[in-house]
Amino acid sequence: MLTRRDAALRLDIPLEMATRHGIPSRLTEDELAAIESDPPQWLVQSRANRTGAKKVWAHLDCVVCGFAEDARPKKWWPDWTYLMCDYHSPFQAPEPTAGFARTEVEGVGSRFIALVDERS
Ligand SMILES: [Zn+2]
Repeated sequence: MLTRRDAALRLDIPLEMATRHGIPSRLTEDELAAIESDPPQWLVQSRANRTGAKKVWAHLDCVVCGFAEDARPKKWWPDWTYLMCDYHSPFQAPEPTAGFARTEVEGVGSRFIALVDERS
């Protein structure tokens, strides 16, 4: 059984859009496959409108423990080198390349710190 959120991820559409267009809160793989193989008009339209636009979902991975989640990208997110969960210690992440300085940006996704390495 898949949730509506799973379906939104797989269809690469925002959760609100899935809700608005009546994707049920639970559906089977077969039901999702049917939507993918014969997409309704609104889905075709949404995909056409988004050609070349940035992704609806971003995949976030912790470089230390491998925790992963999918989240809606935010405009303020920096261009990070690594992500790690906010409770890891800075030394647990890989060292920045020589000549690069690291800044940390908190609050990415539900629990990530973005490590941004820039040439100093
Ligand atoms: Zn982690």
